[in-house]
Amino acid sequence: MEIDAGQQHIEIDAERQQKAKEYARKRRRLSIVEMAIAAIGIFFVLFSGFGIWLRDLVQPLNWQPLPGWFPWQVLVYFLILMLGYQVITTPLGFYSGFVLSHRYGLSTQTLAGWLADLFKGLVLSLILEAFVIELIYLLLATQPQTWWLWVALVLLFFSVVMANLAPVLILPLFYKFTPLPEGELTQRLIALAQRANTRVRGVFTMHLSSKTTAANAAVMGLGNTRRIVLGDTMLDRYTPDEIEVVLAHELGHHVHRDIWKLIISQSLLTFAGLYLINVGLHWAVETQHYYASLADAGTLPFVFLLTAIFGLIVMPIGNGYSRLLEDQADEYALQATRKVEAFKRAMTRLANQNLAEVEPSALVEFLFHSHPSVRKRLKHADEFAARYDLKASISEESSAPASSTEPAGMPSNGSSTPDTAH
Ligand SMILES: [Zn+2]
Repeated sequence: MEIDAGQQHIEIDAERQQKAKEYARKRRRLSIVEMAIAAIGIFFVLFSGFGIWLRDLVQPLNWQPLPGWFPWQVLVYFLILMLGYQVITTPLGFYSGFVLSHRYGLSTQTLAGWLADLFKGLVLSLILEAFVIELIYLLLATQPQTWWLWVALVLLFFSVVMANLAPVLILPLFYKFTPLPEGELTQRLIALAQRANTRVRGVFTMHLSSKTTAANAAVMGLGNTRRIVLGDTMLDRYTPDEIEVVLAHELGHHVHRDIWKLIISQSLLTFAGLYLINVGLHWAVETQHYYASLADAGTLPFVFLLTAIFGLIVMPIGNGYSRLLEDQADEYALQATRKVEAFKRAMTRLANQNLAEVEPSALVEFLFHSHPSVRKRLKHADEFAARYDLKASISEESSAPASSTEPAGMPSNGSSTPDTAH
């Protein structure tokens, strides 16, 4: 492979940036339409009489294991609402997640594969949500003042368990994982981890290429399942130096205990959200007498409405916090490797490959993005180099490509996850 071991220069592909902007704009519009449908749906159910009609429909399912708790009514009402919403929004999801992502060269999935994922995802989320809903209504019936506190605590426990099980139980339903083969990369990562005095339980390759052309990496799991995963879509196109900085970024999440930070911060928001729903429910039942009781299945659409409003309000908070953690992980990667140019090349490759908007508008970034824009991440690297006066040492970096691969001219085929490394 004839590649100069010196600095290969990789730039943001202007043509792909044009496509990236188009793609991001189309997807944003679609998600706004989807939110509008959800809002109209909730208002329709609440104010057209449909909600009351549905409530009467499930009335005969009045098995009552505990006074005031009607698990069948709640379950059936919940399933009808969720499946109705799914049926209405599936065409949009199909257009956005299948048609568009193929048109932009990001998806490699077959229709059958896409449908199978949709089905698995739907079944999984319905089971988990139904469990939570039943718990909420059980507690609404038995602990009408403190139910929200108990639910928040159970959800906190639940999210810890899920974070632990996700890489071994949930994600393998969607992706194949294999241990990263022993070799130069594993050696580099072990060296990085040793310098950081931390232990990585495992490094895995996630077979993203069966579904997407996009590259990604992440830290996953908690406790005995924590691990770093690297998309196979990255392995064959990035130099070992570039992969090393990506791994160092992920190791930074490890060292900073970011999964715990996210669980805790999400839980605080959950506490706040459930408290708000509590206030809203008491108002609707006790002041306005809209419903017979707090635990009446008919309150479900009202609970959905409050949940949606709260979710929209806190979305920028969650994303802002995530961007802060990402920025710190970037700083860690730069500190640990001092490979500023490799960092910049990796970011640039990711943007080109994943069809990520390099410079989204400030408002879009503030509202929707969990990662700093690529432009900001590149700037961070430059500032780091200036801070440590690293310009001189950059040329010492070996940027020799991985021998078995083709790292130079990144072929410009895109991807479906428009994010850069997690
Ligand atoms: Zn990250």
